[in-house]
Amino acid sequence: MLFLDKLFENCRSLGGKTAIDFHAEGFRAGGAAATVSYGGLRAAVERAAAWLHGLGILPGDRVAARLPKSPAGVCIHLAACRLGAVSMPLNPGCSEPELLHFLRDSAAKLLIADEAETPDAARIRGQAPALRRVVPIGPASFDAFAGGVDAGAAPACSIAPDTTALMLYTSGTTGRPKAAELSHANLTAGIDALDQAWQWRADDVLLHALPLFHVHGLLVALHGALNAGASTVMLRRFEPSAALAALRGSGCTVFMAVPTIHARLVSAARSAKIDAGRLRLLTSGSARLSEDLFRQLGDLFGREPVERYGLTETGILSSNPLDGERRPGWVGLPLPGVEMRVADPADNAPLADGKVGEIQTRGVHVFKGYWNDAQKTAAAFAPDGWFKTGDLGLRGADGYFQIRGRSSDLVISGGMNVYPLEVERVLDGHPAVAQSAVIGCPDAEWGEAVTAVAVAAGEPPSEKELTAYCRRRLAAYKIPKRIIFAEDLPRNAMGKVSKPALRKIHCKDCR
Ligand code: AMP
Repeated sequence: MLFLDKLFENCRSLGGKTAIDFHAEGFRAGGAAATVSYGGLRAAVERAAAWLHGLGILPGDRVAARLPKSPAGVCIHLAACRLGAVSMPLNPGCSEPELLHFLRDSAAKLLIADEAETPDAARIRGQAPALRRVVPIGPASFDAFAGGVDAGAAPACSIAPDTTALMLYTSGTTGRPKAAELSHANLTAGIDALDQAWQWRADDVLLHALPLFHVHGLLVALHGALNAGASTVMLRRFEPSAALAALRGSGCTVFMAVPTIHARLVSAARSAKIDAGRLRLLTSGSARLSEDLFRQLGDLFGREPVERYGLTETGILSSNPLDGERRPGWVGLPLPGVEMRVADPADNAPLADGKVGEIQTRGVHVFKGYWNDAQKTAAAFAPDGWFKTGDLGLRGADGYFQIRGRSSDLVISGGMNVYPLEVERVLDGHPAVAQSAVIGCPDAEWGEAVTAVAVAAGEPPSEKELTAYCRRRLAAYKIPKRIIFAEDLPRNAMGKVSKPALRKIHCKDCR
């Protein structure tokens, strides 16, 4: 059964049960309901669908929404899917040139924007010819923007599994963001696999602290909870003390985050333990979880985190097991229904266990392609149909996978392959290093010189000491030729280190 049908069935059967509790004060502004039941969600989605229909939205049309995390944003996303249209949630922090790229590239018909930050409609429409309307709405309302609309006016719509539900612009840590087209079948496959792997339950309570314009917060977290008939406590934005209070007090059973959020929680807790009594599932993903942070989270919550690995184009591919060994530094086993292999990136020939190559995958979870870009889509698949993730990694003899970094970040020094994650793991293990990132910088002698940028935890160690530390743990060719100390690492909206930005900032030859 497709996710949307499952959700609507939950709405019928669960009626008054809380679907989403918009927890932050900001959501209550304007007297809008902060909590919505499953029955209320169904009615609100119907009204929002009628509203979108009234604005001329037809099946297949792209509906762009640049909204803060809000009840209205959730409602519009589900309503677009319900109409057979394409939901396109955008990062509310995107700049105007980025916004214009998204609107022009997608040929979106409608832009719904936060009334406090609505761009100049005439200027935007002048530069995005397919755009018919720019509609400002208040973020506090759930479906108040559709006030006066007859909920029964949304046309019935039978949705084929292959219909595009969602277009998400990939984070863009490399190149120009491109839109991944995800079908209703893709969304459903992703959720069904996680439902089995993580054993979602109707009595789960999810603490939601992630943005809603990314696959992690929208599909893995929110859709996962709605699909299970669970309740979601939604924070408007991540703020460590509010998240800690919610984890302590609200009886949450599931918490999902990216490593940057976890690190901020650990530091805010200041080594006080959290009695997260009912918390049964604590996950980490979207970027590498260091082994240190894995242990710190275990100490803080009294439970080991479950690290998982995935991409916008495929949803989650692998996870450490719920029951079984959660191995720090590894991303676990393929989810049910997901095939994964490690192949030579040059000729796509499968490699033996233990050999580093490109992680490739196939199955119903793999996206339809990049919107309007047959060339990039074709380049993303091997001739035998496997999707090329662009991530380097290996499979251990027992089937666990380990990620070694993006192939585009691979450093080739003196003809030898250096996987940045391997070096970063070692650097992060030094007690005086809080975070690190490794890049290759052009070098006359080595081709590329392994260069590390480190953020110190307190007093920075000397470069000499850190180099000696690496020498005890890494082969000679992997030891950074240069270690730069910085205040911070440049990160994108999901907390992922942007290597192109890092090169620009720290390497004059890379600029
Ligand atoms: P996105 O499409 O924004 O979700 O980014 C996907 C990329 O994030 C993957 O291709 C990986 O490079 C990275 N990623 C996701 N999960 C992990 C993980 N657990 N460990 C290391 N990298 C990860």
